[in-house]
Amino acid sequence: MGVETPGSQSSLHRANLERVVRAVRMAGSLTQAEIARTTGLSAATVSNIVRELKEGGTVEVTPTSSGGRRARSVSLSGDAGIVVGVDFGHTHLRVAIGNLAHKVLDEKTEPLDVDASAAQGMDRAEVLVSRLIESNGISRHKIVGVGLGVPGPIDVETGVLGSTSILPGWVGTNPRDDLAARLGVPVYVDNDANLGALGELVWGGGRGAADLAYIKVASGVGAGLVISGRIYRGPGGTAGEIGHITLDESGPVCRCGNRGCLETFTAARYVLPLLHSSHGPKLTVERMVELAGEGDPGCRRVIADVGRHIGSGVANLCNLLNPSRVVLGGDLAGAGELVLAPIRDSVARYAIPSAARQLAVVPGTLGGRAEVLGALALVLSEMGDSTLLDRAQPTDATALA
Ligand SMILES: [Zn+2]
Repeated sequence: MGVETPGSQSSLHRANLERVVRAVRMAGSLTQAEIARTTGLSAATVSNIVRELKEGGTVEVTPTSSGGRRARSVSLSGDAGIVVGVDFGHTHLRVAIGNLAHKVLDEKTEPLDVDASAAQGMDRAEVLVSRLIESNGISRHKIVGVGLGVPGPIDVETGVLGSTSILPGWVGTNPRDDLAARLGVPVYVDNDANLGALGELVWGGGRGAADLAYIKVASGVGAGLVISGRIYRGPGGTAGEIGHITLDESGPVCRCGNRGCLETFTAARYVLPLLHSSHGPKLTVERMVELAGEGDPGCRRVIADVGRHIGSGVANLCNLLNPSRVVLGGDLAGAGELVLAPIRDSVARYAIPSAARQLAVVPGTLGGRAEVLGALALVLSEMGDSTLLDRAQPTDATALA
């Protein structure tokens, strides 16, 4: 395709093609009427473009029904490309592959001490991705991109890991460029909270919400914020540090240096010790949730208190951003209403009523898979459409230029 003059017939046509592909790429599948609504294009234009994209092999069209009427569902062709997700957790490495029609094809997890060294972690990631691709009979040139999740602050522009006490063996490394060089494909990187938010938005408890906060309570507490369908990172990439909202100025000293941060009332390392004398020192969050489900009063009390404190943070979030949904991730989500009800109580108590009225607080449905699926979603959201359209078989109309 040659250089096009902006405003010319062919560049307008190309722009319309990209709008339709982008809409379908983000949603997974849409009816033609939904594409028209999302893109603002006329029904006739959408119909022509969909036909052209179908002939080029970029999209697939399947019969469906919408509101009792026959409709045509459009998704990107499963053959159009493969996306890969890689998620480094504190104790595991997860890899997933999917296609552009939002179908997850395969996943693998293995234990990994991520703190050991960055190089060791990248070696394992390279091996695991290669194995998964080969065992599914996928050729490498089908991969359009890899999404990479790391459990720490990362600059998504440069790919460099920030100074952190969370991953000392990774500070100053560039896992994005490293993995891109090893695999020979574009790599997109983000932190675990943002990927959890994307995963739940596309496949889990956040489906259909344009504005949501994903809150994960684990060794730390973080939030991924989705505003108008996109991750909000802020210029420094630190948006969503809900764990460091001050709840008590004379509370415990936090790893950030302040006192009484939300994290010091909710993160595992602070709340599990409350149960050490009654339940022994080896208690995990997973086990605490299990015991609470069986009626253990101490575990129930601790979980309820954690919920109340998270709710205070969520109330602040409501007043500032007014999200329509809060998705709770991590092991704590397994406690269901035992933690969700106290969150809602605190929100009702501390948030402005009009900000809290339309808020739904729900558990994540993806569990530990949220981040790796979010890594797939990151590629779908960041990859752009040019590659995809240029890969397609040129038809008369696209060759018009
Ligand atoms: Zn703090």
